[in-house]
Amino acid sequence: MTTTSPPTTPSAVLARLCEQMTQAGHAPPEPAPIVETLDALADALFSLAARTGAAQLTAWGTTTGSESPGAGLTLAYGAEGALKRVAVRQPMAHALYASLSAAMQARARLGDTDFSPGAPSPTGGRDASTESVTFTRVAQPRGIEFMRQALTVARENIRQGGRPFGAVLVREGQVISTAANEILATNDPTAHAEMLALRRASQLLRSPRLDGCIVYASGHPCPMCLAAMTMCGISAAYYGYSNEEGAPFGLSTAAVYDELSRPMEARKLKLTPLRPEGEAGLYELWKGSQP
Ligand SMILES: [Zn+2]
Repeated sequence: MTTTSPPTTPSAVLARLCEQMTQAGHAPPEPAPIVETLDALADALFSLAARTGAAQLTAWGTTTGSESPGAGLTLAYGAEGALKRVAVRQPMAHALYASLSAAMQARARLGDTDFSPGAPSPTGGRDASTESVTFTRVAQPRGIEFMRQALTVARENIRQGGRPFGAVLVREGQVISTAANEILATNDPTAHAEMLALRRASQLLRSPRLDGCIVYASGHPCPMCLAAMTMCGISAAYYGYSNEEGAPFGLSTAAVYDELSRPMEARKLKLTPLRPEGEAGLYELWKGSQP
């Protein structure tokens, strides 16, 4: 029995939870990652729970910050269909509970975790302000239907004479846009399914930012699409077919990833600075034009 005080930072909560999981025989496959924010902790908890096969993840505590009866996380494991509630309980500081619980619920509502949240419920304890929120693992991974849709788009594109790629862009559980690879039909080398899905979504949402959106791509995204997704704030991306599976068909972009990971001097396409005299001040000009 540990006598140390409850952790007060996201990283410490996760580290302690991992320790307890190891002791309980549910070894996390890697050392606890450093998580700086509550959002990152929420993400890490869900992925840890999913990877170690937990059926439920419960956050419990008081909403008042009183010292009793505590706050913490419980991971429950199921066995052969029956939930055995082999629980790993990790106490944490009261101050963390309310904000962590809110972050976890927001994360689960975004639909990019395998866990769905129940309503906050009283724990039936001594204190009316004590509540818990239980996240239950969904029967099939969330998003599997969106991926199925991306693959349907890819198959339809084959029938149209196009390349076997489709993408679906989702925000808060709703499909915002879908697209097929159109490079052959348009002679546009950038007309990848993911790029077109981003373009359609940002036009529809009237914003160049797509923060919090999720992309489901039939094939492993290429570096161009991955960069575009990173730059506009896509929060998660899934792929149906890997580069390894695409390689025998000439449908892998692994070579481009390799090329970009080399030092600049070793790359085939070199980027060389070149500016004519008298052409300084472009960015100052832009800055001056801003309202
Ligand atoms: Zn691409």
